[in-house]
Amino acid sequence: MSASILSRLNPSFEASCPRCDGALVYDDIHFAGTPILVECHCSQCHVAYLLDWPAGHALLYPTIVEVETGVAHSDGREWYPRLLRRLIATREHPTAARTDVRGHSSGNSTAIVVNCIDFLYGHCVLKVLSGLRYARDPDVDVVMVVQKNVSWLVPSTVDIVIEVNVPLSGGDTWIAGLDSAVTSVVEGYEFVQIAPTPSQPYLTNDDLADIAPRLAPSAFWNSPNAGLHQIALLLREDRLWSGRRRAGALRLLPRDLTHQLMVRAQTRNCANVVRQVQRRCPNVQFVAIGLGRSHPLPTSIRDLRTTTITQDTERDWLTEYARSRVVVGVHGSHMLLPSAFAGAVIDLLPPHKLPNIAQDLIVISSTEPEPKLSLFRYRILPDNVGADVVSEVIVSLLEDADFHYVNMIRNRSATGVEWLRPIVWRRLDDPAA
Ligand SMILES: [Zn+2]
Repeated sequence: MSASILSRLNPSFEASCPRCDGALVYDDIHFAGTPILVECHCSQCHVAYLLDWPAGHALLYPTIVEVETGVAHSDGREWYPRLLRRLIATREHPTAARTDVRGHSSGNSTAIVVNCIDFLYGHCVLKVLSGLRYARDPDVDVVMVVQKNVSWLVPSTVDIVIEVNVPLSGGDTWIAGLDSAVTSVVEGYEFVQIAPTPSQPYLTNDDLADIAPRLAPSAFWNSPNAGLHQIALLLREDRLWSGRRRAGALRLLPRDLTHQLMVRAQTRNCANVVRQVQRRCPNVQFVAIGLGRSHPLPTSIRDLRTTTITQDTERDWLTEYARSRVVVGVHGSHMLLPSAFAGAVIDLLPPHKLPNIAQDLIVISSTEPEPKLSLFRYRILPDNVGADVVSEVIVSLLEDADFHYVNMIRNRSATGVEWLRPIVWRRLDDPAA
């Protein structure tokens, strides 16, 4: 039955045998989990392969694995082919997972399969978001394959959802039953397509509206200054903002003690940021969001952290992001949705994450097409900055936004014969003084 899917998929990519450059013959397809694997063989040397369909991270790192030897051939960074080889090695003992199918066909002849399975939360979120655009096309049915932990993001506009009850840690294994579930769902379609699910998709406000129809992203520019501004501190205990206290300096201590000291350093940094910012901007309130509550925060911070995340928690947090004028956090997948819904972002980047810069941010280019406005709103700082630097940046984001907008945007409309705003004269000083 899978072979018939392959013929309906009609792969238009050509790949040659990495051993002898002979043409590959495609035989079958397997929805294995994170990858979609094409079973194929070389027309010349007859070596059998599993070729990773060009979707998801296989777009970045094309990979083909020899079935008999497990030898991988790739074009890109090595982590992905190594992961794929380990995943294929689990084929004989795949991860058991309950698979639930909900929804139904809209009667279209084409199904587009959006495979969102992954082993990293951020990858899953971006794959889901990348597939929402197809659900707004009335001429195709969308079949979205998601793990249970991100299924809350999938809107009712998606025709058919295949929910796979496998944790993120199972996303790097072969998932039992998934192939037959997808095969069964697309059985009746004349045409089947695979969504490319690029790891950094182009996203629009329509995509955000799909996942949160009643939630408008925070409007950063030209927003009234009156009232309270909310700043969200996005905290996690597996990746800490220790500021100037570096883990390396504590390396002689036991690991647990080092972690405790780093958590305390993060808490101290947060307390200092609150104190420093509120001293200069009294109309600011802080909220803490994230997983882990091993260390109490000052009472001046509304603490919404939790030790377990439910779908209700996720939705409540989404509301808080949209209420926030600024969100602050260490680089990571937990920054994706906050950056999409909050007004401005301070992203604290560890040195080892430099190759991944901006991958954790969702910047909606249709609403922020001006690069200099984006540079103002999305601040990426080294993670070893202290509370004083973060506080200065928060204050600047709050106090300098209006001036920046006038300087960068509004004055471009000037005609040369007028000012574009009313003038209020202020006496500068007394020259005789
Ligand atoms: Zn060959």
